[in-house]
Amino acid sequence: MQKMNNNRIQLSEIFTSIEGEGPFFGTKTMFVRLAGCHLSCRWCDTTYALGMNTGRSYSICEVKDLIIELLQPSTYKINFTGGEPLIQHEAVAELAKFMKQKGGLRTYIESSCFDSFRFSEVLPYIDICKIEFKMSDSKVVDHKNYSDLLHNETQCLNLAVSQHKSTYIKIVVTNSTNLEEFRNLVKEIFENARACDLIGFVIQPSYGVDEPPLSKLLGFYDCVFPVYEEVRIVPQLHKFIGVR
Ligand code: SF4
Repeated sequence: MQKMNNNRIQLSEIFTSIEGEGPFFGTKTMFVRLAGCHLSCRWCDTTYALGMNTGRSYSICEVKDLIIELLQPSTYKINFTGGEPLIQHEAVAELAKFMKQKGGLRTYIESSCFDSFRFSEVLPYIDICKIEFKMSDSKVVDHKNYSDLLHNETQCLNLAVSQHKSTYIKIVVTNSTNLEEFRNLVKEIFENARACDLIGFVIQPSYGVDEPPLSKLLGFYDCVFPVYEEVRIVPQLHKFIGVR
């Protein structure tokens, strides 16, 4: 993985839109999209931000100024997203810390949780954590690295709940997702977190790629409901209303 310059940040875009995913969907949100992701989910919808040289290079100070300049009234939260924000985790920590010091705005990280150490460095400045577990059919990493990814995702879950962050689980499912694999993952998740530790569990159907039919979605739902009744099947809202 390419080493980043600590004083600079490779930024894909900053914009304000409507949160389209998870329990906070519908909230007015500032998105700070960092460039670069070394993973390869087959349903990735931000392929334009995957390259480490996409977007533009800024100093951290420039990005702080941009955030303040572009921040709209009534914004509910600021999302550090990507690409994969943990590739530039030091910059994310610095920006999230800055936002906490400025006061008020909730900070949120959307990551694949591929590295629990980097996650732990950012976590003190983050209020809301989406812990995403990737199913093997996502093709996010090759087979030999998949258990390492799952281990890091589980570690990130442990860190988030132990620090009493607002934590929710997201899993993208497709028509190829294996129900038994999903069931085992749910078991593993609830061996590491109690239902009361979570603010949500979102099953997100893939969009435009190998979409799962209703019968499959209900099968996934039925795996979670006995241990967590607040499970929801939530498609990405922004796709339906045609915004970023
Ligand atoms: S982790 Fe996110 S940004 Fe990276 S390939 Fe997967 S969906 Fe795309």
